[in-house]
Amino acid sequence: MRFLPVFFDLSRGSVVLIGSGAPVIAKLRLLRAAGANVRWFSQSADAGGELIHARHYAGTIEILAGEPVEKDLAGAFAIVSFAGKDIDERVARHAHTLNIPVNIVDRPDLSNFIFPAVVDRGDVVVAISTGGASTVLARRLREKIETILPARIGEFAGWMRTYRERLGELRERGVSIRGFWEQVIDGPIGAAFLSGQQEKAEKSLLRKFEGATASNGNGIVHLVGAGPGDADLLTLRALQTLQAADVIFYDELIGPDILDRARRDAKQVFVGKRKGQPGIGQDAINRLLVEAAQAGQNVVRLKGGDPFIFGRGGEELEFLQQAGIAVTIVPGITAALGCAAEAGLPLTFRKEATRLTFVTANVAEGAESIDWTSLADPQSTLVVYMGLSSAAVVQKGLIGAGRDRATPVAVLARGTQPDSTAATGRLDELRDLAASVGEGPALLVVGEAVAHSSVWKADKSIRIEAAA
Ligand code: SAH
Repeated sequence: MRFLPVFFDLSRGSVVLIGSGAPVIAKLRLLRAAGANVRWFSQSADAGGELIHARHYAGTIEILAGEPVEKDLAGAFAIVSFAGKDIDERVARHAHTLNIPVNIVDRPDLSNFIFPAVVDRGDVVVAISTGGASTVLARRLREKIETILPARIGEFAGWMRTYRERLGELRERGVSIRGFWEQVIDGPIGAAFLSGQQEKAEKSLLRKFEGATASNGNGIVHLVGAGPGDADLLTLRALQTLQAADVIFYDELIGPDILDRARRDAKQVFVGKRKGQPGIGQDAINRLLVEAAQAGQNVVRLKGGDPFIFGRGGEELEFLQQAGIAVTIVPGITAALGCAAEAGLPLTFRKEATRLTFVTANVAEGAESIDWTSLADPQSTLVVYMGLSSAAVVQKGLIGAGRDRATPVAVLARGTQPDSTAATGRLDELRDLAASVGEGPALLVVGEAVAHSSVWKADKSIRIEAAA
């Protein structure tokens, strides 16, 4: 680290700015945004227009002409210059003699401080430096950080500040302030505030304030949907939650790319089923979640797709609520949506596919027990989860219930993952198609909409070629 990042209160001293042109105006704006008093030695006669923009900030701008001499610089808090080689070099020499921090724009050799790329969200400011190596890299990093910070994070910080005085009360009651805020930030109160429900957050926070006692060290569980496999399909909130986790309980649908996005020192615990092994079971998972939360941890229960779609998220939610544990739900892109997007398969289509059903073939009484009559509507798209090994039953059931045996179908396997594959054909071929795609996870999709998909069209051109 060549430069120490610090945040200065510039409202107390003045900064001398020398030069003209776009880079200087940019610095002027930045300094004014931080409330600085600026003495500007402008090298151009036409500074007025730009100044109008900067006027609404606090502080003053004093405009002077020409080149400053040493005594003009004495007493400044800092000096910034972009006034051509000769002036810049003289300014830098004066600054060094006077021991005043100086930044010569684009001249790290003459500067002893540099401006970082800044993410400015009011009270929350992130400064990024590459040590002067590359402004392009710094900007790219800034864009990345912009996307992971919740939009209302600045307001959130301001809101927390308004409670600072009351924290003394909590301390007197023996409550850990850090633990208290961590629960607010990572829990439902923070989630409510950040999603714009300030009133709700306010009420819950007051209740928490009143109820907080020294023993109130409970953690929280986030039921998080990880999407269908591709780590880029995590939602921003899922990513934020993973970055804040102390411990992550994940199952077999979660790949290493997704776990790589979690906080480095978070503990990762596999609770799924490996091939041929039954796994630890839902009751044991529920107990682990409760124990971790009761130990005060920030717990993530990470599930493939969406936690509320065939993911047993509902059961976990109820169990945790009964145990008095705070829970938040972070939705994920369910397999049907991820796979359909990848296959270019519109799940609904005007006039042809006006209804969409998600069904699981993995029911306790076996897929034979499913009532297929309600799924035979020719205008509906049917997405079958966990149906790869029961494709024959699905095929027989739907045809038996009156669905046209020529209905287009697709089997989408390992969707959005590097080895994803698709097979398309007719309903009366479903069993064979399912047998051709290799291992799951896979979805069966049935309906006229399938004929509009890219995978169908690609397969069809192969079929035509083969026939020719
Ligand atoms: N909660 C998950 C579903 C869990 S059930 C979700 O919302 O997606 C597990 C089933 O989901 C698998 O048997 C398979 O049918 C489907 N599935 C999950 N990931 C998939 C993927 N990447 N490609 C195809 N199907 C997938």
